[in-house]
Amino acid sequence: MSVPAFTGYGEHKLHSLSPQQLAHVREVGLALFQGRGLQAEHGGLINVLDPKPLQDTKGNIDGTGQEFQRSEAGTRQRRQGSPGGSRQPWRPSDPHGTVLHRAFLSAEAPAALRQHYTGVKRWKELGGKGVWLAVSVFPVGMEGPQADFIIAVPRNPTFRIVAWGFWRMKDGPIWMGPKHTNYPDGSSCAFPVNSGVWTEDHGITAYVDRLAEWSMRHLYLDAEGLWPGPQEGDHIYYRLRHTHPRECCTRCWQLEPYQSCCQALDQKESAAGDREDFIALYGSDVAEQRPHSRLLRWMERMRGAPPSMSRIHPSLRATRELACGSDD
Ligand SMILES: [Zn+2]
Repeated sequence: MSVPAFTGYGEHKLHSLSPQQLAHVREVGLALFQGRGLQAEHGGLINVLDPKPLQDTKGNIDGTGQEFQRSEAGTRQRRQGSPGGSRQPWRPSDPHGTVLHRAFLSAEAPAALRQHYTGVKRWKELGGKGVWLAVSVFPVGMEGPQADFIIAVPRNPTFRIVAWGFWRMKDGPIWMGPKHTNYPDGSSCAFPVNSGVWTEDHGITAYVDRLAEWSMRHLYLDAEGLWPGPQEGDHIYYRLRHTHPRECCTRCWQLEPYQSCCQALDQKESAAGDREDFIALYGSDVAEQRPHSRLLRWMERMRGAPPSMSRIHPSLRATRELACGSDD
């Protein structure tokens, strides 16, 4: 039996960044590798929160994990914390689910988002089944790459709120993936559900802030070929196939590079049926998840209502949490 090995990511050097933008992306990426926090500013501009590296960057920060505050300047800050929260997948019975959905379904949601973000649009799904929200983020500023997110909010709180990200390129939208997107629908996996990285108290703007941070990580991946900062991967086959040896360990969520942390252990524990087990659980092979073709086509023009939510996702509930690249 051959042990699965990392074979690279499908995305690289998509963006032509100016020297200043590239320096910005690298600064944020290096900060993430050091376990430092980020802050989102107007339009989704992402900067490093802490002026100095944390004393203890090995994930031993105790407490609940996040510290969230809004400065007078409108900067939204979040400190890094230990994973802390549950690793359990999202459960429909989550009492917060209903509240979260109400916040997103609210007619005031677009106005709240427009105070901080551009490109905000809202469409009601036919039959009152939910709403779609669109928003644009600019992780390195308004002159840099534009990421458009489309967020599906089913009215039924047993179905998750999910978002897909697309780079707005000259020749059309390009899906932000497959790294740290959900299986099998390719939606953004910007933070682990139930990790406390984002809760109802943080609100809609903070949700989009997390998407902006995730976009910044993708910019770093595009420029440097590495996913920056802590990340998780629940399945051994996924970890071996989709963790660059120099990236943070996906097995134990720490800052230590996978190659000097748990890679050898994963290789030792690797078994013949891992791939089949993964596909049975997640619905496709590693990195073969994709957004629905109708959604991709609609993103080209974003005119008229988005495709039917139930068609894009016969069961949003079936979306499985696999791995999330966030600094939780
Ligand atoms: Zn490890």
